Amino acid sequence: MTGGRQDSTDRGTERLPAWVTWQRRPFPDANLLLLHGRRPALVDSGFVGHAEETAAWAHARESGLAMVVNTHWHSDHVGANSLLQSSGAAIAAGAPDAGALARRDPGCCLAEYLDQPVAPYTVDMPLQDGQVLRLGDADWQVVSTPGHTPGHLALWQPEERLLAVGDALSDYDVGWVNLALDGPDAAALALNSLRRLADLNPKVLLPAHGPIPTDPGAAFATALRRAQRLVDDPAGAVWYGARRIFAFALMIRDGLPSAEVEPYLLARAWLTDAARQLDRKPEDFATELVDAMLRSGAVVLRAGRLHAAAEHAPVTARSLWAVPFPRAWPAQGTVNDR
Ligand SMILES: [Zn+2]
Repeated sequence: MTGGRQDSTDRGTERLPAWVTWQRRPFPDANLLLLHGRRPALVDSGFVGHAEETAAWAHARESGLAMVVNTHWHSDHVGANSLLQSSGAAIAAGAPDAGALARRDPGCCLAEYLDQPVAPYTVDMPLQDGQVLRLGDADWQVVSTPGHTPGHLALWQPEERLLAVGDALSDYDVGWVNLALDGPDAAALALNSLRRLADLNPKVLLPAHGPIPTDPGAAFATALRRAQRLVDDPAGAVWYGARRIFAFALMIRDGLPSAEVEPYLLARAWLTDAARQLDRKPEDFATELVDAMLRSGAVVLRAGRLHAAAEHAPVTARSLWAVPFPRAWPAQGTVNDR
Protein backbone atom coordinates (compact mmCIF):
# COMPACT_ATOMS: atom_id res chain seq x y z
CA MET A 1 0.00 0.00 0.00
CA THR A 2 1.20 3.50 -0.74
CA GLY A 3 0.05 7.03 -0.12
CA GLY A 4 -0.72 7.65 3.56
CA ARG A 5 -3.77 9.75 4.24
CA GLN A 6 -2.85 13.36 3.93
CA ASP A 7 -3.93 15.88 6.48
CA SER A 8 -1.27 18.34 5.60
CA THR A 9 0.61 19.53 2.59
CA ASP A 10 3.76 17.73 3.69
CA ARG A 11 5.24 15.92 0.73
CA GLY A 12 6.56 13.26 3.08
CA THR A 13 3.07 11.81 3.51
CA GLU A 14 3.34 10.40 -0.03
CA ARG A 15 5.85 7.90 1.30
CA LEU A 16 3.50 6.62 4.03
CA PRO A 17 1.35 3.50 3.75
CA ALA A 18 -2.43 4.03 3.46
CA TRP A 19 -2.99 2.88 7.05
CA VAL A 20 -1.14 5.88 8.45
CA THR A 21 -2.60 9.37 8.88
CA TRP A 22 -0.10 12.06 9.68
CA GLN A 23 -1.02 15.51 10.92
CA ARG A 24 1.62 18.16 11.27
CA ARG A 25 0.81 20.66 14.00
CA PRO A 26 2.48 23.89 15.07
CA PHE A 27 3.61 24.38 18.67
CA PRO A 28 2.41 23.95 21.38
CA ASP A 29 1.18 20.61 19.98
CA ALA A 30 3.22 17.61 18.93
CA ASN A 31 2.37 16.18 15.49
CA LEU A 32 -0.28 13.47 15.38
CA LEU A 33 0.22 9.98 13.99
CA LEU A 34 -2.91 7.86 13.65
CA LEU A 35 -2.47 4.17 12.83
CA HIS A 36 -5.56 2.59 11.30
CA GLY A 37 -6.65 -1.04 11.53
CA ARG A 38 -8.25 -3.38 14.02
CA ARG A 39 -6.48 -1.72 16.97
CA PRO A 40 -6.52 1.96 16.01
CA ALA A 41 -3.78 3.83 17.82
CA LEU A 42 -2.62 7.40 18.19
CA VAL A 43 1.01 8.31 18.82
CA ASP A 44 1.17 11.36 21.13
CA SER A 45 -1.82 13.55 21.92
CA GLY A 46 -0.87 17.24 21.79
CA PHE A 47 -1.18 19.98 24.40
CA VAL A 48 -3.97 20.04 27.00
CA GLY A 49 -5.24 23.43 25.77
CA HIS A 50 -6.14 21.71 22.47
CA ALA A 51 -7.29 18.35 23.90
CA GLU A 52 -10.84 18.59 22.54
CA GLU A 53 -9.56 19.48 19.09
CA THR A 54 -7.17 16.49 19.21
CA ALA A 55 -9.89 14.07 20.34
CA ALA A 56 -12.30 15.36 17.67
CA TRP A 57 -9.61 14.93 15.00
CA ALA A 58 -8.93 11.34 16.07
CA HIS A 59 -12.59 10.38 16.52
CA ALA A 60 -13.50 11.79 13.08
CA ARG A 61 -11.03 9.33 11.56
CA GLU A 62 -11.35 6.33 13.90
CA SER A 63 -14.45 5.69 16.00
CA GLY A 64 -12.88 3.30 18.49
CA LEU A 65 -9.41 4.45 19.41
CA ALA A 66 -7.83 1.49 21.25
CA MET A 67 -4.60 3.07 22.40
CA VAL A 68 -2.54 6.20 22.79
CA VAL A 69 1.22 5.67 22.84
CA ASN A 70 3.32 8.50 24.28
CA THR A 71 6.90 8.95 23.08
CA HIS A 72 7.49 10.81 26.36
CA TRP A 73 5.58 12.74 28.97
CA HIS A 74 6.19 16.39 28.06
CA SER A 75 3.00 18.48 28.04
CA ASP A 76 2.87 18.86 24.25
CA HIS A 77 2.68 15.05 23.85
CA VAL A 78 0.23 13.94 26.56
CA GLY A 79 -2.36 16.73 26.63
CA ALA A 80 -5.35 14.75 25.37
CA ASN A 81 -4.43 11.55 27.27
CA SER A 82 -6.98 12.26 30.00
CA LEU A 83 -9.82 12.94 27.57
CA LEU A 84 -9.02 9.97 25.30
CA GLN A 85 -8.57 7.65 28.28
CA SER A 86 -12.04 8.64 29.55
CA SER A 87 -13.47 7.60 26.18
CA GLY A 88 -11.87 4.16 26.35
CA ALA A 89 -8.36 4.38 24.94
CA ALA A 90 -5.57 2.66 26.89
CA ILE A 91 -2.46 4.74 27.51
CA ALA A 92 0.95 3.18 26.79
CA ALA A 93 4.21 4.88 27.78
CA GLY A 94 7.79 4.10 28.78
CA ALA A 95 8.17 2.11 31.99
CA PRO A 96 10.12 4.88 33.84
CA ASP A 97 7.33 7.39 33.12
CA ALA A 98 4.63 4.84 34.01
CA GLY A 99 6.18 4.14 37.41
CA ALA A 100 6.45 7.81 38.36
CA LEU A 101 2.89 8.46 37.14
CA ALA A 102 1.57 5.56 39.22
CA ARG A 103 3.23 7.08 42.31
CA ARG A 104 1.93 10.58 41.41
CA ASP A 105 5.53 11.71 41.73
CA PRO A 106 5.55 15.57 41.84
CA GLY A 107 8.09 15.49 38.99
CA CYS A 108 5.65 13.80 36.58
CA CYS A 109 5.61 15.21 33.07
CA LEU A 110 7.90 17.97 34.37
CA ALA A 111 4.56 19.79 34.52
CA GLU A 112 5.35 21.75 37.66
CA TYR A 113 9.07 22.14 36.94
CA LEU A 114 8.39 23.57 33.48
CA ASP A 115 5.13 25.29 34.55
CA GLN A 116 3.15 23.54 31.81
CA PRO A 117 -0.31 22.13 32.61
CA VAL A 118 -1.09 18.43 32.03
CA ALA A 119 -4.51 16.86 32.77
CA PRO A 120 -4.32 13.78 35.06
CA TYR A 121 -3.92 10.37 33.43
CA THR A 122 -2.54 6.96 34.23
CA VAL A 123 -0.46 4.55 32.17
CA ASP A 124 -2.26 1.26 31.45
CA MET A 125 0.64 -0.34 29.63
CA PRO A 126 4.25 0.35 30.69
CA LEU A 127 6.59 -0.26 27.76
CA GLN A 128 10.04 -1.84 27.76
CA ASP A 129 12.80 -1.62 25.18
CA GLY A 130 12.29 -4.21 22.45
CA GLN A 131 8.65 -4.83 23.27
CA VAL A 132 6.41 -5.34 20.23
CA LEU A 133 3.11 -3.50 20.13
CA ARG A 134 0.29 -4.13 17.70
CA LEU A 135 -0.88 -0.70 16.56
CA GLY A 136 -3.54 -0.62 13.86
CA ASP A 137 -2.76 -3.84 11.99
CA ALA A 138 1.02 -3.61 12.18
CA ASP A 139 3.64 -4.59 14.73
CA TRP A 140 5.78 -1.75 16.07
CA GLN A 141 8.88 -2.22 18.16
CA VAL A 142 9.56 -0.03 21.18
CA VAL A 143 13.03 1.54 21.04
CA SER A 144 14.10 3.04 24.33
CA THR A 145 15.82 6.35 23.50
CA PRO A 146 16.73 8.18 26.73
CA GLY A 147 18.23 11.65 26.48
CA HIS A 148 15.58 14.32 25.90
CA THR A 149 13.84 12.64 28.86
CA PRO A 150 14.93 9.43 30.66
CA GLY A 151 11.75 7.60 29.59
CA HIS A 152 11.75 8.74 25.95
CA LEU A 153 10.98 6.07 23.36
CA ALA A 154 10.73 5.71 19.60
CA LEU A 155 8.54 3.32 17.62
CA TRP A 156 9.90 1.22 14.74
CA GLN A 157 7.83 -0.55 12.09
CA PRO A 158 10.35 -2.85 10.33
CA GLU A 159 8.30 -3.94 7.27
CA GLU A 160 7.53 -0.40 6.10
CA ARG A 161 10.70 0.96 7.75
CA LEU A 162 8.78 3.73 9.52
CA LEU A 163 10.35 5.35 12.57
CA ALA A 164 8.39 7.63 14.91
CA VAL A 165 11.08 9.48 16.85
CA GLY A 166 9.22 11.82 19.21
CA ASP A 167 11.51 14.68 20.20
CA ALA A 168 14.78 12.76 19.66
CA LEU A 169 15.24 14.72 16.44
CA SER A 170 13.32 16.71 13.88
CA ASP A 171 14.17 17.91 10.39
CA TYR A 172 15.91 20.92 11.89
CA ASP A 173 17.16 20.11 15.38
CA VAL A 174 17.48 17.70 18.29
CA GLY A 175 15.55 17.55 21.55
CA TRP A 176 16.93 19.72 24.35
CA VAL A 177 18.44 17.93 27.33
CA ASN A 178 18.20 18.83 31.01
CA LEU A 179 21.64 18.41 32.57
CA ALA A 180 20.45 19.72 35.95
CA LEU A 181 17.64 17.18 36.36
CA ASP A 182 18.94 14.24 34.35
CA GLY A 183 22.65 14.57 35.09
CA PRO A 184 25.75 15.52 33.08
CA ASP A 185 25.45 12.34 30.98
CA ALA A 186 22.04 13.25 29.54
CA ALA A 187 23.57 14.72 26.37
CA ALA A 188 25.75 11.65 25.79
CA LEU A 189 22.72 9.42 26.34
CA ALA A 190 20.78 11.43 23.75
CA LEU A 191 23.65 11.06 21.29
CA ASN A 192 23.76 7.28 21.84
CA SER A 193 20.00 7.07 21.34
CA LEU A 194 20.29 8.99 18.06
CA ARG A 195 23.02 6.63 16.84
CA ARG A 196 20.76 3.70 17.64
CA LEU A 197 17.91 5.24 15.66
CA ALA A 198 20.18 6.13 12.71
CA ASP A 199 21.36 2.50 12.58
CA LEU A 200 17.78 1.40 11.87
CA ASN A 201 18.09 3.24 8.52
CA PRO A 202 14.39 4.15 8.25
CA LYS A 203 12.66 4.88 4.96
CA VAL A 204 10.42 7.47 6.64
CA LEU A 205 11.28 9.46 9.75
CA LEU A 206 8.26 10.75 11.67
CA PRO A 207 9.29 13.51 14.08
CA ALA A 208 6.95 14.99 16.69
CA HIS A 209 7.62 18.53 15.48
CA GLY A 210 8.08 20.00 12.03
CA PRO A 211 7.87 18.29 8.65
CA ILE A 212 8.70 14.73 7.61
CA PRO A 213 12.36 15.01 6.53
CA THR A 214 12.73 14.45 2.78
CA ASP A 215 16.06 12.70 3.38
CA PRO A 216 16.20 10.72 6.65
CA GLY A 217 19.95 10.15 6.27
CA ALA A 218 20.63 13.87 5.98
CA ALA A 219 18.35 14.60 8.94
CA PHE A 220 20.29 12.09 11.05
CA ALA A 221 23.64 13.54 9.94
CA THR A 222 22.56 17.04 11.03
CA ALA A 223 21.03 15.77 14.27
CA LEU A 224 24.14 13.75 15.17
CA ARG A 225 26.32 16.85 14.69
CA ARG A 226 23.99 18.92 16.87
CA ALA A 227 23.80 16.21 19.54
CA GLN A 228 27.61 15.97 19.58
CA ARG A 229 27.75 19.74 20.10
CA LEU A 230 25.48 19.41 23.16
CA VAL A 231 27.91 16.82 24.55
CA ASP A 232 30.97 18.97 23.85
CA ASP A 233 29.44 22.21 25.14
CA PRO A 234 27.37 21.65 28.32
CA ALA A 235 26.85 25.40 28.79
CA GLY A 236 25.46 25.60 25.26
CA ALA A 237 23.15 22.69 26.10
CA VAL A 238 21.83 24.56 29.17
CA TRP A 239 21.23 27.68 27.08
CA TYR A 240 19.48 25.68 24.37
CA GLY A 241 17.10 24.10 26.89
CA ALA A 242 16.35 27.43 28.59
CA ARG A 243 15.51 29.08 25.27
CA ARG A 244 13.16 26.27 24.28
CA ILE A 245 11.42 26.16 27.67
CA PHE A 246 10.90 29.93 27.82
CA ALA A 247 9.61 30.13 24.21
CA PHE A 248 7.08 27.40 25.03
CA ALA A 249 5.97 29.29 28.17
CA LEU A 250 5.31 32.38 26.08
CA MET A 251 3.36 30.37 23.49
CA ILE A 252 0.93 28.79 25.94
CA ARG A 253 0.37 32.13 27.73
CA ASP A 254 -0.11 34.24 24.62
CA GLY A 255 2.98 36.13 25.74
CA LEU A 256 3.74 37.83 29.05
CA PRO A 257 3.49 41.55 29.96
CA SER A 258 7.08 42.86 29.95
CA ALA A 259 6.87 43.85 33.60
CA GLU A 260 6.00 40.26 34.57
CA VAL A 261 8.79 38.57 32.61
CA GLU A 262 11.52 38.83 35.25
CA PRO A 263 9.36 37.80 38.24
CA TYR A 264 7.95 34.95 36.14
CA LEU A 265 11.41 33.68 35.25
CA LEU A 266 12.81 34.03 38.78
CA ALA A 267 9.97 31.89 40.16
CA ARG A 268 10.82 28.98 37.84
CA ALA A 269 12.81 25.98 39.04
CA TRP A 270 14.19 25.37 35.53
CA LEU A 271 15.63 28.88 35.43
CA THR A 272 17.37 28.69 38.80
CA ASP A 273 18.71 25.24 37.84
CA ALA A 274 20.05 26.60 34.55
CA ALA A 275 21.63 29.60 36.27
CA ARG A 276 23.37 27.29 38.74
CA GLN A 277 24.68 25.12 35.92
CA LEU A 278 26.09 28.25 34.29
CA ASP A 279 27.47 29.60 37.56
CA ARG A 280 25.41 32.79 37.28
CA LYS A 281 22.96 34.56 39.56
CA PRO A 282 19.37 33.78 38.52
CA GLU A 283 18.68 37.54 38.08
CA ASP A 284 21.64 37.89 35.72
CA PHE A 285 20.78 34.78 33.75
CA ALA A 286 17.12 35.83 33.38
CA THR A 287 18.21 39.19 31.92
CA GLU A 288 20.77 37.56 29.65
CA LEU A 289 18.25 34.99 28.43
CA VAL A 290 15.65 37.58 27.44
CA ASP A 291 18.27 39.85 25.84
CA ALA A 292 19.76 36.97 23.83
CA MET A 293 16.32 35.83 22.64
CA LEU A 294 15.35 39.39 21.66
CA ARG A 295 18.61 39.75 19.74
CA SER A 296 18.17 36.45 17.90
CA GLY A 297 14.54 37.24 17.09
CA ALA A 298 13.24 34.20 19.04
CA VAL A 299 11.04 36.53 21.09
CA VAL A 300 9.48 39.87 20.15
CA LEU A 301 7.92 42.75 22.09
CA ARG A 302 4.47 43.72 20.85
CA ALA A 303 2.23 46.23 22.65
CA GLY A 304 4.04 45.77 25.94
CA ARG A 305 3.99 41.96 25.82
CA LEU A 306 6.84 39.57 25.15
CA HIS A 307 5.82 36.90 22.61
CA ALA A 308 7.49 33.85 21.09
CA ALA A 309 8.25 34.56 17.44
CA ALA A 310 8.01 30.98 16.13
CA GLU A 311 4.78 29.90 14.51
CA HIS A 312 2.36 28.59 17.13
CA ALA A 313 -1.36 27.95 17.56
CA PRO A 314 -3.19 30.19 20.03
CA VAL A 315 -4.24 28.62 23.32
CA THR A 316 -7.55 30.14 24.28
CA ALA A 317 -8.95 27.66 26.84
CA ARG A 318 -8.44 29.59 30.11
CA SER A 319 -9.74 26.58 32.07
CA LEU A 320 -6.43 24.85 31.48
CA TRP A 321 -4.82 27.07 34.12
CA ALA A 322 -7.07 25.38 36.70
CA VAL A 323 -5.51 21.99 35.86
CA PRO A 324 -3.65 20.81 38.99
CA PHE A 325 0.01 19.81 38.97
CA PRO A 326 0.69 16.07 39.42
CA ARG A 327 1.31 16.37 43.19
CA ALA A 328 -2.41 17.26 43.46
CA TRP A 329 -3.69 14.69 40.96
CA PRO A 330 -6.19 12.12 42.27
CA ALA A 331 -4.56 8.80 43.14
CA GLN A 332 -4.22 6.27 40.34
CA GLY A 333 -7.36 4.17 40.08
CA THR A 334 -9.66 7.12 40.64
CA VAL A 335 -8.85 8.97 37.43
CA ASN A 336 -11.64 8.47 34.89
CA ASP A 337 -12.94 5.62 37.07
CA ARG A 338 -10.35 3.27 35.68
ZN1 LIG B 1 9.67 16.90 24.65
